[in-house]
Amino acid sequence: MRLQLIGHDYKYAAEQMLLTLFPRERPVYPPEGVADDGARIALEGGEAVCTLFRNGRTYTGRAPADGWRTQRERVRAEQRAVKLSFYRAALASGAPKPVWGALTGVKPGKLMARYLSEGKTAADFAADFDVDPDRAALCEATTRAALAAKASLAAGDIGLYVGIPFCPTRCAYCSFISSDVRASEKLVAPYLKALLGEIRAAGEEVRRAGQRPVALYLGGGTPTTLTAEQLDTLCAALAEAFDLAALREYTVEAGRPDTITAEKLAVLKKHGVGRVSVNPQTMSDAVLAAIGRRHTAQQVADALALVRAAGNFAVNMDLIAGLPGDTPEGFADTLEKVLALAPENVTVHTLAIKNGSFLASRPEALPGAEDVGRMVSLAGRRLAGAGYRPYYLYRQKYMSGGFENVGWARPGTGSLYNIIMMEELATVLAMGAGGSTKYAGPDGSVRRRTNPKYPKEYIERMRENGI
Ligand code: SF4
Repeated sequence: MRLQLIGHDYKYAAEQMLLTLFPRERPVYPPEGVADDGARIALEGGEAVCTLFRNGRTYTGRAPADGWRTQRERVRAEQRAVKLSFYRAALASGAPKPVWGALTGVKPGKLMARYLSEGKTAADFAADFDVDPDRAALCEATTRAALAAKASLAAGDIGLYVGIPFCPTRCAYCSFISSDVRASEKLVAPYLKALLGEIRAAGEEVRRAGQRPVALYLGGGTPTTLTAEQLDTLCAALAEAFDLAALREYTVEAGRPDTITAEKLAVLKKHGVGRVSVNPQTMSDAVLAAIGRRHTAQQVADALALVRAAGNFAVNMDLIAGLPGDTPEGFADTLEKVLALAPENVTVHTLAIKNGSFLASRPEALPGAEDVGRMVSLAGRRLAGAGYRPYYLYRQKYMSGGFENVGWARPGTGSLYNIIMMEELATVLAMGAGGSTKYAGPDGSVRRRTNPKYPKEYIERMRENGI
C-alpha cells in the first residue's frame, strides 16, 4: 500500500498497523505523496488524521495525541494516535476488525500491566484499543499470573536457557535454526564440546554476579535428539557449573515424540528434570504428514505413556491452530485426544508464517482466518471448561488472523520460565547456538546478547573465544 506520513516519521507504527489490517500488503512511499490510492497519515495540532483512498472512495480516521507529560509519553501518545487514525479509516473502508483491535505489539501484557497499575480495568483496555472483550479478559488473566510470578522473584534470581539446535526432521512451518540431525550428525559432538565450554564460562559469570538460577530450560530444536549418554553429560555439566539449589523448575523440550525413550527419561529424572514438553501440534496423521513431522499421533500417545511411566513429570503439549489441511472439526478432534492424555499444560499456538519456513511459499494450503478463529475460540472454551487457566500469552508477526499464542495450565502447574522469558521479569542467560541472553535492568530495561545462529558458526565463535 502507498503510504505518506505528514508531520511525523512514525513509520514503524504505520507499518505495524498496515500489517495488522492488510496482511498481504507491503508499504511503499511514493516521492510524489499519496492523493488517490493509499493512506496519508498527518499529525498536527495534537491530532492524527488518516485519509485512506481505496477503490475510488475516501475514508477518514481521527485520533487525539494528548494526555502526555514527558517526551517519552509524547512519543507513545503520537504513535498510538497514528495507529488509531489509520485503524479507524481502514475499518470505515470495510477492512475486517482484528480481534486485538488496534493493538499491534507482541506483548499485550506489558500494556495491560500498566493499565492495572494505574487502576484501570480490562474494559478500559478493550475500549481504548477496540480489543475484543474476551481477548482483554484473557490478557488480564495472563497479566495477573505474570504479576504473581514477578512478586515471587527475588533480586538476583535468573533463568537459564540451553539450546540444542537439532531435530529428527525439519517441520514445514519451522523458521528456527534447527538442523535435521540426519544431515548434521557430525556436528553434534563438536557442538556439545563447545556448549559445555560456554556452560562452564557462564557458570563462572553467574557465580561472580551472585545470581541464583531459579528456572532452567533446555530447548532448541529438540534436546532429546541427543543420545541418553549425551544428555547425561550435558545435565551433569550444568549441575557442575551452576548452583542449582534454588532451582524451582527444570524443563526439557522433548518436543518430538520419536526422540523419547525410557532411557533418556531416566537420565532426565536422575538430574532433577521435572517438566517435559511433548508436542504433537496436531493429532491428525494426515496433517502431521503435511507438516513433515514423520511421526504419528499414536507415537505421541506412546511417548506420553513412557513419560508417565518414567515418573512424576509435569507435561506440556503444544498445539498449532491453522496447520495446512486442518479444519475446525479436525482441530476439535485433536483437542479431545490431547485432553484424554491429561497433560498439566497445553500451549495453543496460532500458526505464524515466517520467512524461511517452507509454508511461506504455499499460503494456499492453509485454512482461512475464519476457520483459524474458530479453532482458537474452541481451544479457549474447551480448555477453560476442562479446568485449565491461561497463564501466559504472546503474539507474533504474520500470525494467521492476527490471533495469539496462549499457555494454559492446571492451577499451580504453569511454567515460571515461560513467564519470566515472555514478560522479561528477570535476566535469562542463554547458552548455545541462537541463544539470546536478556539482561533485565532494575528499571525494566532489557539488554540483549545473541550467540551465532548456526551450529557451525557457534562452534567457530566458541573456538575464537578460547572456549
Ligand atoms: S521440532 Fe520445532 S525446532 Fe524442530 S524442526 Fe520442528 S518446528 Fe523446528
